[in-house]
Amino acid sequence: MATRFSSDVYARRLQRAAELTRDAGFDAIVVGTGPDFRYLTGSDAETFERLTALVIPASGAVRVVTARLELASLRESAIGDLGLEVADWVDGDDPYALALAGLGDDAKLAVSDALPALHLVPLGDRTSVAPQLATPVLRELRMIKDDAELAALRRAGAAIDRVHARMGEFLKPGRTEAAVAADIDAAIRAEGHDLAEFIIVGSGPNGADPHHEHSAREIQADDIVVIDIGGPVHPGYNSDSTRTYCFAAPRPDIAEAYAALERAQAAAVAAVRPGATAESIDAAAREILVDAGLGDKFIHRTGHGIGLSVHEEPYIVAGNHDVLREGMAFSVEPGVYFAGDWGARIEDIVIVTSDGCEPVNTRPHHLVILPG
Ligand code: ZN
Ligand code: ZN
Ligand code: ZN
Repeated sequence: MATRFSSDVYARRLQRAAELTRDAGFDAIVVGTGPDFRYLTGSDAETFERLTALVIPASGAVRVVTARLELASLRESAIGDLGLEVADWVDGDDPYALALAGLGDDAKLAVSDALPALHLVPLGDRTSVAPQLATPVLRELRMIKDDAELAALRRAGAAIDRVHARMGEFLKPGRTEAAVAADIDAAIRAEGHDLAEFIIVGSGPNGADPHHEHSAREIQADDIVVIDIGGPVHPGYNSDSTRTYCFAAPRPDIAEAYAALERAQAAAVAAVRPGATAESIDAAAREILVDAGLGDKFIHRTGHGIGLSVHEEPYIVAGNHDVLREGMAFSVEPGVYFAGDWGARIEDIVIVTSDGCEPVNTRPHHLVILPG
């Protein structure tokens, strides 16, 4: 299938996962379907009540446990090329025994955080040591992007920038947010995404709700409009970029607050470098908004990691002491929100480089005035 990298990428990731499993003192990690499974195998299989999982032991062969009816689709992923051991089962068999084969009763297991409780509990029942979260292993892998992933994130950034560049075609006073969103949806796909994962068209007072999607509200000529859009680009890496638009010169108070927001976003991007903490990037943006008297208008964290998931580690938030490293990718997206009136947000995805960062989004940051 054309939804993945070459097999050697997955072979390398699996080998590294086994090393980290060993380093963390686990006997094996069990990875259920979802983004972690996709990261390690290139398969976008999603199962729920029938266990499909990757079992990565600290030493020995990686095993795929799966219902026989899933086998054909798994064979089309990297699993088919890597020569992994496959243990398939049919309804009535005990998939947990297959998952734990070769591991002792006292095996120290760790499970991926998206493994359903439906599977976690029976696995735990079969071992004398309670399973732990495999998060330390999986976050370490997924947080640091390799060259192929960084290239995919750059392609995604360029694709969503092309959609923002076309905003004047879609966003006009007198149209509803929903009509604008439908056009943006088509453009997101036309510009190279597999689909639109989210489309926020927040006009006027709706812009003051950071998680507003879109509504039947008719856009007004004096509205400020927040457009936050993104989705996956082959092979599954997401774009996510926000720009704020209007149709005429904004009110002076809006222009002033927006100018502070622009400075805050630029300061946070400028603070990104290896060795800085995640929370220091949040603080760089927040300090400028606090100084401008807008501290209480910035009501969310500054950013989130991005990759196969739209939201993943590292989170750019106060209290996160994680140290930034080359190859991390995350959003820098401060906003200001005036309930009942208007809101604005500026969002770029940045990649941490050896001495700073590389934004993958390059559209202008100022309040864009479209023809009304
Ligand atoms: Zn969100
Ligand atoms: Zn966004
Ligand atoms: Zn975002």
